[in-house]
Amino acid sequence: MKRFWQKFVCVSVVLVLGCMFFVGCSNERYLKKFAKKQNTYNIDLVLDTDVMTASGYEKFEYENRTDSGVETLVFHLYPRAFREGASVKPYSNLSEARCFPNGVDYGDISINEVKVNGKKSQINFVGEDDDKLEVVLQETCFHGDEIDVEIWFDLELPNCTHRFGYFENNINLGNFYPILAVKENGEYDMTPYYANGDPFYSECANYNVSVTVPESFSVFSSGNETKREEVNGKVKTRFSALSVRDFALVIGGNFEVKTASNKKYNVNYAGYKEDKDLEGNAKLAFKAVEFFSEVFKEYPYQNLNIVKTPFVHGGMEYPGLVMISDTLSTEEEKHKVIVHEIAHEWWYGLVGVNETKDAWIDEGLAEFSTALFFDSVSGYGISYNQMVNDAITSYTLYVDVISSIDRSLNTKMNLRVNEYLNEYEYTYMIYIKGILLFDDLMKITGKEKLTKALSKICKDYAFSNIDTDIFTESIKRSTKKDTDAFFTSYLEGDAIIGKVH
Ligand SMILES: [Zn+2]
Repeated sequence: MKRFWQKFVCVSVVLVLGCMFFVGCSNERYLKKFAKKQNTYNIDLVLDTDVMTASGYEKFEYENRTDSGVETLVFHLYPRAFREGASVKPYSNLSEARCFPNGVDYGDISINEVKVNGKKSQINFVGEDDDKLEVVLQETCFHGDEIDVEIWFDLELPNCTHRFGYFENNINLGNFYPILAVKENGEYDMTPYYANGDPFYSECANYNVSVTVPESFSVFSSGNETKREEVNGKVKTRFSALSVRDFALVIGGNFEVKTASNKKYNVNYAGYKEDKDLEGNAKLAFKAVEFFSEVFKEYPYQNLNIVKTPFVHGGMEYPGLVMISDTLSTEEEKHKVIVHEIAHEWWYGLVGVNETKDAWIDEGLAEFSTALFFDSVSGYGISYNQMVNDAITSYTLYVDVISSIDRSLNTKMNLRVNEYLNEYEYTYMIYIKGILLFDDLMKITGKEKLTKALSKICKDYAFSNIDTDIFTESIKRSTKKDTDAFFTSYLEGDAIIGKVH
């Protein structure tokens, strides 16, 4: 995600179907190798855009690939955070007005029925805010056993500019379906939908998704469109995505698309019909995908959709789809957000992290990767040095201001998202200090060694998850530099920014 951090300082349709079917055959074979070892979500969603609700059906095909027996499966129900009376809200007081321009509104997901291997199962809400679905299996599922979990659900969309909601012409469907929580050391990750950061953590899986909407709406999603048909006067579009760690959609009635392609992938920029910069944004997005493909690892999917939409923050990343806020005030800010969100396709998408506790990795790298891109691509009035110098100025000003009013200044980067006092503290420690960490690291390792080390991480850990230990050890091993003290001083909050070098 990209936050409006610069502001905080001051305050102190064309169809692309044709291309879709022609590219990416070699990538498909590559993805299938990983897809075979992953679970599959089959989701059917029918939207009623008159009342902004949807009826959904999910069949989750699960195989136990662990050595332990599994008795229960736990699914995050992120839309429940939008319900009236939720104790953990996905927006802060600071962002509430931007999130709900028409006044606070509520949304929800209701679970109507759950079946395990065709047999009806109890519906248990668990978690700190009853925001998870626990499915108790009739029998222990052992290594190699396969089970199907079917979930019938209804969505109620809030009128808001968040990841899940509708506003003006658009519908954002991020984190909208029951998704399996990650289990580590015998425990499911039960983190609720906090306002800070992107509090998500998931495993890569395969998706077959259909969405039915009135003909006047365009649908952009993760994955590839595979079929479009008319059903009861509406249009049902099917998508498939192999080896992605989430699936999201943006649906709207006022889009125009420009596409930049090569033989392997299409980069589609969907802006509004009245926009004059569609082609330029599509070219920028394509250059970013090319650049990160060359520096880190080739983009493995056939499509990347960059979609302009009402959004409370600067932008939001999902595999194969990113949301770009339609309220970005300058061209410079928009260009940075586009590249930042695209960088997340590598740092979050390909190489996953638990964003509830290791957000410095994916956000720091998304910012640093953006700066590397603008170091190599000119013509946008943005430079590596300018991004780093802006970050130093912002960070030192923040530290000075907070120190002058509150002696308990926190400069740790390794806290859980909810342990940061507010979104300012989170933004300064994760994004701004994040880019500074990588800039400083590059002074120790040199640019070539660092980018090679990052590329190796992309290749070694593609479609899996890493954590702070794996990341820092990999950097140390690849660069042959003893970076232990360096990482500790940054992450624990001891590094003195702006005066070290
Ligand atoms: Zn981000």
